[in-house]
Amino acid sequence: MTTRPAAKSADLKPLLEKVLTDFPPVARTNADPIQFPRWYFEQGRAPAEIESVALFSAMLAYGSAAQFIKKIEQTLNACEWRFLDLILDQTRAANFAWPAYRLSTGSEIGILARAAGKLITRHKSLKTVFLKGYRPNTSIKEGLISLHQALCHEAEKIGGPLARGTRHLLPDPAAGGCVKRWHMFLRWLVRPDDGVDMNLWPEVSPALLLIPLDRHISRIARNLGLTTRGSDDWKTAEEISASLARFCPQDPIKYDFSLCHLGIAGECTHGKDQQLCRRCLLASVCQAARPVKN
Ligand code: SF4
Repeated sequence: MTTRPAAKSADLKPLLEKVLTDFPPVARTNADPIQFPRWYFEQGRAPAEIESVALFSAMLAYGSAAQFIKKIEQTLNACEWRFLDLILDQTRAANFAWPAYRLSTGSEIGILARAAGKLITRHKSLKTVFLKGYRPNTSIKEGLISLHQALCHEAEKIGGPLARGTRHLLPDPAAGGCVKRWHMFLRWLVRPDDGVDMNLWPEVSPALLLIPLDRHISRIARNLGLTTRGSDDWKTAEEISASLARFCPQDPIKYDFSLCHLGIAGECTHGKDQQLCRRCLLASVCQAARPVKN
């Protein structure tokens, strides 16, 4: 079988824009953890509450979406959607029945939430801690490292050396992995308000964001010629983001949604189902789509 050559930028940009127009992200927020911080945002809640709910929702967002959405909702119901009041009251938060989720016990999840509460008490917001490390015009990495280190420090003060379940909730942005959940958290808070993302941290440039990378996104990105790297790490996220910046330098991660929801309704099978490829907007530029034989 001959391999289709990588797509040219000029071919790909209008197609990605069309995916955004035809499948607007706002129509899909109910199946995404963004629905929780977005609800607080639309209610006009305090920025510290929106960003703490964003952190909590993003860090639990792994595994089955149905399962982690249920856990987040259960937690917010249990505190009557007054999440900031809960985490600012360390005694109440220590006695709260945090639900366990997969690799983390309820107690370990509670330690993450209480650590965020401690940082907000001390610095007024998580943004302040991020901005201590952030390098404008250069990189978001140091900002994430600043926030990660401060959260880990507070978590250790609360519960001693970090247990595996707490470490899993707080992946280290300095370790070279793609840290998808951190980039998702930043996307929600930094990108312009498009009905999904919230632009709550306008001091941070959307141009510096990196794509929240997972296996699905990286395989699609390879098929579209957006990266040549084989591993799913920080450098690959940088390479894909740089490729997307050719289409929209000021806001390259606006295409995250297009890549997430490729194929019909996000059902891309990476070329296994060629019937699906034939209906996909990107078939003409995707290396996994085989040309139809006459
Ligand atoms: S053409 Fe097929 S493999 Fe390529 S993005 Fe679309 S659905 Fe996925």
